[in-house]
Amino acid sequence: MNVKEKILVVDDDPHIRKTLADILKVKGYETAIAGTGAEAIAAAEQGDISLALIDLILPDMPGLEVMAYIRMISPFTEIIILTGHASLDTAIKATGQGAFSYRIKPYNMDELLQDIRHGVERRQAKEEILRLASFPGLHPSPVIELDSAGEVSYLNPAAERVFPDLGVLGKLHPLLQCSAELFEDLRLGRQRGETLHEVEVGDATYELHIYYVQDVDLLRIYVMDITKRKRNEEEIYLLATTDSLTGITNRREFTTILEREMDQAKRYGTPMALVMYDLDNFKNVNDTFGHDVGDYVLQTVTGLVKQNIRATDIVARWGGEEFMVLMPQADIQSARNTAEKLRLAIAGHHFDQINELTVSFGVVIFEAQDDLTSLLKRADDALYLAKKRGRNRVEILTREIASH
Ligand code: GH3
Ligand code: MG
Ligand code: MG
Repeated sequence: MNVKEKILVVDDDPHIRKTLADILKVKGYETAIAGTGAEAIAAAEQGDISLALIDLILPDMPGLEVMAYIRMISPFTEIIILTGHASLDTAIKATGQGAFSYRIKPYNMDELLQDIRHGVERRQAKEEILRLASFPGLHPSPVIELDSAGEVSYLNPAAERVFPDLGVLGKLHPLLQCSAELFEDLRLGRQRGETLHEVEVGDATYELHIYYVQDVDLLRIYVMDITKRKRNEEEIYLLATTDSLTGITNRREFTTILEREMDQAKRYGTPMALVMYDLDNFKNVNDTFGHDVGDYVLQTVTGLVKQNIRATDIVARWGGEEFMVLMPQADIQSARNTAEKLRLAIAGHHFDQINELTVSFGVVIFEAQDDLTSLLKRADDALYLAKKRGRNRVEILTREIASH
């Protein structure tokens, strides 16, 4: 840090505020301390507070009120709320009113320091935007200005490039449509500083950073493109939870779902069935026609299964050519019927090149004494039984029979 960032610590406990201030000094921050709301406001009026740590319960006024004052005096000061468990609701409310985050006492010092660092960085980013605000033409992201009538009065080159129809549509452009009320609030001074707003236009999602520039009575909007970030998050989620060959739920995700459904079934006493199936003599398919044909068969079988189960059933790839279907609310009869329907659909399907392909099924019903291991073991045993008894068949195993 070249110029030291100043952190204000507001807490009525002298021991807490001294300890915090000492640690912050060691970490390279400049500090100010306040034991009451009035002292905190006085400190904020002195200026340059990057971030304030505010205890919710202070002797002279509520922490939330102190926060509101500080944000009024210095809109870019970030706020972190420190609170006991009893005031958790208020702390959460504070984040809705612009606090950067909250920490519950006794807080973890490393986490608090990390929050402080992020808060300071956010404040620096806002200052950077403000600095660039004097030269919107140079700004790499779209910048749009609206005049006091809400009409588009300026587009920087990036805005003209990214939204070519903005100049024609003006305030009717989907990017600006939903924001009319928000703009009005900002203009009337009901919201100060920066306001964030997320908008979807077609497939893309944008984050609008909106500032009211009082001296010229205009709104300046910085448009960040966040679609890529969102898409990455979705891709990572999909990669982590689905099987790449078949596109269905993978083993890890299925285990999570199964545990959750077992909890539900146990709590509410509702039935639940688990079906495990495995392709018959699949090694022959690979050996005779090659691995690619084998892959095509796995995909086709998955398609047939998906067509023949209910929307609430979940099919997953458990291993190479072993699959599971979880059927919430299904009793033994309906599970057997579904498995039989699947068996016939696959056995009756004509696969390119291959004359015949069949599948064996093991069916089990969740019972109150089951845990994950016992349920999976029984499904595996039921499937093994189907293989042993000749393949292309459905076997059911209850806890009682399995134990004999
Ligand atoms: P069974 O009727 O007893 O189940 O006999 P099987 O030949 O199906 O059983 P085995 O366990 O001997 O062989 C399973 C085969 O599945 C072997 C493996 O190469 C193949 N396999 C597993 N995963 C994949 C995959 O992703 N693609 C392809 N093409 N084959 C796979
Ligand atoms: Mg097999
Ligand atoms: Mg197998």
